[in-house]
Amino acid sequence: MIVEPKVRGFICTTAHPTGCAESVDRQIAYAKAHPAPAGKNVLVIGCSTGYGLASRIAAAFGGGAATLGVMFERPANPPRTATAGYYNTAAFEKRAAENGLYAKTVNGDAFSQAVKDEIIEIVRRDLKTIDTVVYSLAAPRRTMPDGTVVSSVIKTVGSTYTNKTVDLRTNAVTEVTVTPATQEEIDSTVKVMGGGDFLDWMHALKNAGVLSQDCRAVAYSYIGPALTHPMYLDGTIGAAKRDLIAAAETLRKEGIEAYVSVNKALVTQSSAAIPVVPLYIAILYKVMKKKGTHEGCIEQMCRLFGDKALTGAVKTDADKLIRLDDLEMADDVQKEVAAMFDTIDNGNIKQYADIEGYWDDFYKMFGFGYKDIDYTADVEI
Ligand code: NAD
Repeated sequence: MIVEPKVRGFICTTAHPTGCAESVDRQIAYAKAHPAPAGKNVLVIGCSTGYGLASRIAAAFGGGAATLGVMFERPANPPRTATAGYYNTAAFEKRAAENGLYAKTVNGDAFSQAVKDEIIEIVRRDLKTIDTVVYSLAAPRRTMPDGTVVSSVIKTVGSTYTNKTVDLRTNAVTEVTVTPATQEEIDSTVKVMGGGDFLDWMHALKNAGVLSQDCRAVAYSYIGPALTHPMYLDGTIGAAKRDLIAAAETLRKEGIEAYVSVNKALVTQSSAAIPVVPLYIAILYKVMKKKGTHEGCIEQMCRLFGDKALTGAVKTDADKLIRLDDLEMADDVQKEVAAMFDTIDNGNIKQYADIEGYWDDFYKMFGFGYKDIDYTADVEI
């Protein structure tokens, strides 16, 4: 059938299989050109889109790793297409097989014990041990072991916050007011996006005896500049990320080398949902592209295994955080971004923000917008 993008606010409800494969191929080409060791056997939890997919591609095609992935994606149910993550993973597995690289994926709820057990079973059978664990989940909700479902919210903590944002339906600069979360909402967000499940995974793998002796684990976080702090660092999601950092500390005390990598703000299905952040990202893209320092997920992940030496003498800051946001947080970049954010309005948005770049990344996440793909052609979904 002919697959067209159907965008509603910050999500696209369709995905193009050929376009998703193209996006995977482009990332593979980058990873092959920027090889770095990632460990022999790599488990990526949240492997199908954004940072997790790029981690898997960098590990496999840049590091020659056998990869196991966990994702939560929907197959096609015609006329409904599959999700982008589903197509990405099919394309990844096909290329891995062609290149003689082991790749298996479990499509299920990473928070559940059943999926943890299934992964342990596969490791025991096929790989024996895991050298690197990448924890890259971004989930809206979690089913707890007792069956209750908790949801994460993107809200402030303490006080109401008003700032500029971009209305993704109209590309207009508007104001958004975010109200503070209740204690219950904060606690739920920590349960979904905090370190509890990261700990559960690492303990399950360790207790099953499937972690190699010098196994490394990494989970992802974000810090960003002051203008995003009320929405992120000081908000509900920041509370969850502090819990994630504490989990990594706990694991290190237990003898498992676990780190949190602070990554760059990028357009992904998760970041598009955070108020204020899309406008910040569009300005950031403008500034970093002009300076020649812009990176996407694959560039970041190749740097994680390369420059930051995740599997070697890992480079962290004084707080044991890996700083892949170093280029984003450079003084000259942040000075320019802050000045532009202050003055941006509907009259100058094109001059100050890379809205086109934002949407280009957005559509490409779902396999749309590649010039060499004929989107009027029938495609098997
Ligand atoms: P994403 O939405 O692209 O990816 C989320 C992944 O999690 C997908 O593979 C999805 O299938 C999987 N997933 C979600 N729920 C699941 C479940 N219940 N079971 C199994 N798999 C599940 O998100 P992303 O932006 O790549 O985020 C990944 C991590 O990187 C998050 O921790 C996020 O906070 C962090 N991060 C993101 C940014 C950014 O700007 N996007 C910046 C810094 C850090």
